[in-house]
Amino acid sequence: MAISVGSPAGPMATTCGYCSPPGNRTTTKSAAHAAGLSANQLSCQVYQQMIDRGWRRSGTWCYKPNLKASCCPSYTIKLDADNFKVSKSKRKLINRWNRFILHGKQPESKTLHAKSKETTFFLSNAIHAAEVGFCSDDPHEHRFETVLEPSSYSSEKFELYCKYQRDVHSDLKNSPSGFKHFLVDSPLIPAPIPYSSSPPSHLPVNYGSYHQLYKCDDQLIAIGVIDILPDCVSSVYFMYDPEWEEFSLGKLSALREASLASEIKAAGAPGMSSLYMGFYIHSCPKMRYKGDYHPSYLADPETYEWFPLEKCIPLLEKYRYACFSQPDHSTAEPADALAKDNKITVIPVNKSPYWKDEEVRRDILGCIAGLACSQLLIQTLRFYGETWQYLTDIPSTAVIVGGDIVALKSPENAKYELVKRIIAIEGDTVRTLPPYPVPEVRVPKGHIWVEGDAFHSQDSNSFGPVPSGLVDSRLVCLIWPAWRIGSSTRATTPDPHPRVTPAPSR
Ligand SMILES: [Zn+2]
Repeated sequence: MAISVGSPAGPMATTCGYCSPPGNRTTTKSAAHAAGLSANQLSCQVYQQMIDRGWRRSGTWCYKPNLKASCCPSYTIKLDADNFKVSKSKRKLINRWNRFILHGKQPESKTLHAKSKETTFFLSNAIHAAEVGFCSDDPHEHRFETVLEPSSYSSEKFELYCKYQRDVHSDLKNSPSGFKHFLVDSPLIPAPIPYSSSPPSHLPVNYGSYHQLYKCDDQLIAIGVIDILPDCVSSVYFMYDPEWEEFSLGKLSALREASLASEIKAAGAPGMSSLYMGFYIHSCPKMRYKGDYHPSYLADPETYEWFPLEKCIPLLEKYRYACFSQPDHSTAEPADALAKDNKITVIPVNKSPYWKDEEVRRDILGCIAGLACSQLLIQTLRFYGETWQYLTDIPSTAVIVGGDIVALKSPENAKYELVKRIIAIEGDTVRTLPPYPVPEVRVPKGHIWVEGDAFHSQDSNSFGPVPSGLVDSRLVCLIWPAWRIGSSTRATTPDPHPRVTPAPSR
């Protein structure tokens, strides 16, 4: 049972490092985040769902960029690792590295002939061709080894990190605690990978957060920070010793991680299919290299469906913000940065005084376990007015359905959050209650009609239909007070509300 727990944070903005010279950031807060989550612990399944909806993590801090409001919109990109077509130039890189390990440095021209005879290319064979544990024990010029280990701190890793940050990113301010927060700490709870048969010994046994160490002649030359999740290998960060610059270790690491995903799949792990290389930032030329791996897909910023990168490029070229599912939502207008600080005023359960009481905490976690809600992110195991609490799914992942209870920003003041039931959705006609000025209303496109279960003040009968974008999360079940534990908040049957006439199309 892996329960996910975290403290949500509302929209915010930060400075941007992509549209400024190396080592600098914008002076204004031009990169907007739609939401944040300080994660105590996350099941790998929940985190997979989150990154499929635009989230990333930095240590235990998770964030979801707001592409529409940011100077450099960042799109989630994935490479189909199983159908990966490795380009000629990337094959060359692998071959060059292997030749270096096996035979040492040689003039380029000498080896060209041998290479052109090659007819078939298998990525995982090529990746491991010169690696300890895969190639023969004959004496080679160098000894190349990789080690995949759960993420952990060592002074050797920290030294490599400092060197890399200093020489490659002109970043001089590094501390062991900063390194730990950024690249060692992880909220992911390791869970066994359900291989269909016992996997080769170099493959991981668990999903979770890892460091992949690259060692040449027993010297640490690079580290890949990766998450291994149910559907993908996700690259978090890569750092290398700048003395090894000439071998393009960053590109080699992407090839190795793509190979890892397909090897895990080949060993019978269901679901595994892709390499997530982090965000693709078209507006920043030096970040476009992620598009050099084919076939790659971008997640639509509004529907999160995957679109082939080639189909996205024309829109990305034309607009600052590109929406692939609804091209007319794209805009070339500059970002408005949305630096407005409209935080939602709810108390996450672990910040509540109740959470400090061990008995209450045990009680709550116990009943969540009993409800088999392992796949839920208890982002909003919230005390609502300190009286009752509820579980919700990941913010904004909810498919809005009439009958759901949702938490939404008040249309009258975004600082406040309301908890209401959706009575009608777009196209439906509602017979209103006082004080609404007219007896009947048709819910406009993109809107919902919400009402409280027990009382009707401050709901759609006073403020009318609300944009569905105000919905923050959907309530899944009540867990407190004890007598309401397990009560589902969702209407079990699609029983139409007596005052609602469904839209003709439904
Ligand atoms: Zn920027």
